[in-house]
Amino acid sequence: MSKKTIKDVDLKNKTVLIRVDFNVPMKDGKIIDDNRIVQALPTIRYVLDQNARIVLFSHLGRIKSEEDKRKNSLRPVAERLSELLERPVAFVDETRGAKLENAIKNMKEKDIIVVENTRFEDLNNKAESGNDPELGKYWASLGEVFVNDAFGTAHRAHASNVGIASNSKVAVAGFLLEKEIKFIGEAVDNPRRPFYAILGGAKVSDKISVIENLLTKADKILICGAMAYTFFKALGYEIGTSKCEPDYVDYAKSLLDKGKGKIILPIDNVVTNEFSEDAEAVTVNSNEIPADMMGMDIGPQTIELFRKELSDAKTVVWNGPAGVFEFDQFANGTKEICKIIAGLQDAITIVGGGDSAAAAIGMGFEKNFTHISTGGGASLELLEGKELPGIAAIDDKCCCCCD
Ligand code: ADP
Ligand code: MG
Repeated sequence: MSKKTIKDVDLKNKTVLIRVDFNVPMKDGKIIDDNRIVQALPTIRYVLDQNARIVLFSHLGRIKSEEDKRKNSLRPVAERLSELLERPVAFVDETRGAKLENAIKNMKEKDIIVVENTRFEDLNNKAESGNDPELGKYWASLGEVFVNDAFGTAHRAHASNVGIASNSKVAVAGFLLEKEIKFIGEAVDNPRRPFYAILGGAKVSDKISVIENLLTKADKILICGAMAYTFFKALGYEIGTSKCEPDYVDYAKSLLDKGKGKIILPIDNVVTNEFSEDAEAVTVNSNEIPADMMGMDIGPQTIELFRKELSDAKTVVWNGPAGVFEFDQFANGTKEICKIIAGLQDAITIVGGGDSAAAAIGMGFEKNFTHISTGGGASLELLEGKELPGIAAIDDKCCCCCD
């Protein structure tokens, strides 16, 4: 990897500021899913082993009012972290000022502090989300080394990632960020071939840059999900009441021309006459969708086609569910894609995208992929081939002299 990581720098006895992604789902002040905290543990444990002092920064939710502040304190997260680490974790209910500074000044080796939600600063002229230069500089002044391990916000230039990094003498990636860059970034840019992409989900318009980038890099692109119907329309098929983006039909046509056989579309579909969990479903060929019905999932012949197309894969990147997987009846295509990918021997398999990752984990395939991305928007931008500001702000690895 071209960026420095925590393994490349000396952290011994230092005060280390770590930006983590503790943006966990909460209900009535309780954490519903602590996965993001768990994902941050390897980096935190490694830094602890260096006898460092650890100051943790994260956002939680969106903060637009005092009421939002009451609901989105990081205090319960600090408590959960303490349970997971089986050691005390202090919480400072401020994002700046004497209380925070004194708490940091009085830290001993292996002490851990969680700073209050960085987005509390958004009530102060959007200081966090607007990357206010003074705020980034101030936070950076609280420690000696900055570690960014928050992949989920790496596509945003905020004070707590880009701001601190640009004002820190040393800014490096944590293990989670390193893993995301390695698997998504490097697998797409330098894949073992054949490299196939499976693209589904809701809209062509959300995924234009992903399709364009992968069209130049992948050996085949298998399309599924709602976006398939815009492609069918481009082929002149009847698509009934299926989801379609009329403004993108010409664009889909141009992709099919440009893709010259690289793009593979579903050949059959599960269709219904209404968008509901228990609507009566039938399976029809792609060019035979009745005018009063809508496509909800890929059909069994498509699953077999995808199985065949993917059989010799050495790299698979999957983004976007194959159907309306939230309804059991239309989850089959997405589940079968998980199974096909899980059964591939000797292939690097990656899931990027919030809903696809949730589907893969929810359906029990968490251990069957090489990598399931922890960041929805950030993983999409990596798949688009974009440079993510949170990653760009980290120090480059250099080949010789300057370490
Ligand atoms: P990701 O978050 O993985 O990038 P998207 O956000 O693009 O994926 O798309 C996920 C959504 O697409 C899901 O809510 C799913 O219900 C929807 N979807 C998939 N197939 C269809 C379909 N045939 N009709 C309507 N919605 C669909
Ligand atoms: Mg989504």
